[in-house]
Order: sequence, then C-alpha cells, then structure tokens
Amino acid sequence: MSTIKIKDKEFAVSIPEEKILKEVERIAAQISKDLEGKNPLFLAVLNGSFVFAADLFRRITIPAEISFVKLASYEGTSSTGVIKEVMGLSENIAGRTVVVVEDIIDTGCTMAKLVENLGTRAPESIHICSLLLKPEKLKVKLDVEYVALEIPNDFIVGYGLDYDGFGRNLKDIYTVVE
Ligand code: 5GP
Ligand code: MG
Repeated sequence: MSTIKIKDKEFAVSIPEEKILKEVERIAAQISKDLEGKNPLFLAVLNGSFVFAADLFRRITIPAEISFVKLASYEGTSSTGVIKEVMGLSENIAGRTVVVVEDIIDTGCTMAKLVENLGTRAPESIHICSLLLKPEKLKVKLDVEYVALEIPNDFIVGYGLDYDGFGRNLKDIYTVVE
C-alpha cells in the first residue's frame, strides 16, 4: 500500500477521485430534481468545502446561486465542538431555499449550530448537504438530506479537507494509517 506523509502522520488513499465524483454527480442530480423552481441559494462552508462546492455546483442543472461563509470549529484531529460566529454572510436569506454545503459531518455539532443560526434569519427552508458523514459519531439530531459518502470514524484528508492546513490539494480522499 502506497502512503503519503503529512507532518507526523501517514495517510493512504481510501476513496479515489473517480468514486467521489460519481457520488457528487448523484447528489447534484437529486438536489436539482428536488429543488426545481426554488432558485436555491447554496451556502458553502469554508475552508473545507471549497473543492466539493465547486464540483457540486457545476453539476447543478437548475437556476441557483452560491455564496460562502466561514466558521472555525476544528483543531488538529479532534473536534472541539466550539463554533465561532458565522462570517461573511452578506446575502439576505429571508424567504430563500438554502442549501448548506459542508465537507464533513462528524459529531454534527458544527452543522446543528450553523442551522440554528441561519434559522433565525427567516429562510423558507434549510437543506443540509455534506460530502462526507461519519454516522457512528453523530451525536445530535440532524436531518442530513444529501450525503455523497458515508465513512468510518477515522480521520481523513484530501479533496479540500486538511490536516493542520495541509492535504487540501490531494485529488483523492486519504485515511490516516495507524
Ligand atoms: P463536527 O462539529 O460535526 O464534529 O465537526 C465538523 C468539522 O470537523 C468539519 O467541518 C471538519 O472541519 C472537521 N472534521 C471532522 N472530521 C474530520 C476529518 O476526518 N478530517 C478533517 N480534515 N476534518 C474533520
Ligand atoms: Mg468544515
């Protein structure tokens, strides 16, 4: 098995780019079907979702808009569960159909707080879309409508996701090797 090293950790490919894009295509088609006529506003959460958001949005076949927000809740390889404020939301989302685009849902705490925050701004509806979901780690009630891939609990990098800032430019998704 060929591995790569980022800082102190070794990683091996766990999901090849081809498989990722196939699943991105699948959920883009589903969203395009479900939200037809709604002129949805995609809100991609930076930094981790930028690669996914670009691939997903280009496969959306209905009129739609996209904007980006930033929050920080993660350090090293364990989730702190602490969310900072939602930064960069300049759009008025009142009455809008909003699709939140995340890279990964782990405990779900980050997404739950973000949805709660967005909910105070009177959107018509909020739909959660995540590239990855770790179902065994989910500890809050969350209706994740669109998931490209479900994965085990291990720490992953690549396709926009980082380990301490590095690894975002990897085309495939890599899992840490113990
Ligand atoms: P949650 O609040 O759901 O526990 O954590 C969500 C955030 O933690 C994600 O947006 C992501 O930034 C980070 N995260 C969770 N698991 C992983 C992982 O395996 N790899 C990386 N790179 N980030 C992760
Ligand atoms: Mg994230």
